Amino acid sequence: MGDDLPLLGGIEAGGTKCVLAVGTGPNAIHARHSLPTRSPAETLTEIASWFADQGKLAALGIASFGPVGLDPDAANWGHILDTPKPEWSQCDLAGFFAANMNVPIGFDTDVNAAALAEATAVELSKSGVLAYVTVGTGIGGGLVVQGSPIHGAAHPELGHIFPRRSPRDQDFEGICPYHGDCLEGLASGPAIFARWGAPLSDLPPDHEAHEIVAGYLAQLCHSLFAMSAAQTIVLGGGVMKTPQLLARVKAQAAALDRGYLPGHMHHVIRTPHLGDDAGISGALLLAQQAIALG
Ligand code: ZN
Repeated sequence: MGDDLPLLGGIEAGGTKCVLAVGTGPNAIHARHSLPTRSPAETLTEIASWFADQGKLAALGIASFGPVGLDPDAANWGHILDTPKPEWSQCDLAGFFAANMNVPIGFDTDVNAAALAEATAVELSKSGVLAYVTVGTGIGGGLVVQGSPIHGAAHPELGHIFPRRSPRDQDFEGICPYHGDCLEGLASGPAIFARWGAPLSDLPPDHEAHEIVAGYLAQLCHSLFAMSAAQTIVLGGGVMKTPQLLARVKAQAAALDRGYLPGHMHHVIRTPHLGDDAGISGALLLAQQAIALG
């Protein structure tokens, strides 16, 4: 009986807003809410208050902006680590909700959770590899390998690789406070605005920014295919809503590879099947996993 399924909570904690949901699974969301991300004290209190009105939850999944602590044996598991976002460094996100709700907590990065949701949505085979990349105020990515998000020393930081610079884009220093012209420093929304004075979607289709940005994202896709043998790369986030950007990335990625990589005929670059719900669906999957893990 569907009514007997445990009620799950999900939080997609982003740098500018948080999305909340309750439901019995990623395809069965009963209620949702979103709120701007303010200070931890204000934000966490409002989140807890919304969930308190939704009925007794069996588990909570948190898909958070990073960097976060993912080592279950470490004291900082479930914490936001050092971040430029004011007041959020070392915030014990998982600990707050574990104490507040007294339920099992599933925790991962927003992009690992979105990768998990996209892999689950297409019933990716257990041997499959899928990457999810968001291109927005920053660039972040997660990878699911054989059904599980990648955790190693920490979590992937796909936005901070160093692409080869476009010959038409030699002078811009890049905006990453750590690396300057890493991928995020060159192709995120703020990096686009810094050099061309407008969001990519507002620039005319023949503006050189489109091909330059697509070229950097194509390099990321080629590197991901080469390093992880991913079958599927899902590109989400606000910048990817620019008309024709996906097609430009696909064309440039194919041109970069020249048919070399084994399996290249099966490489897929696409937008999220789940649209803007990939992250919150992933959060509900994390809650499901938390129950399974006991
Ligand atoms: Zn960087």
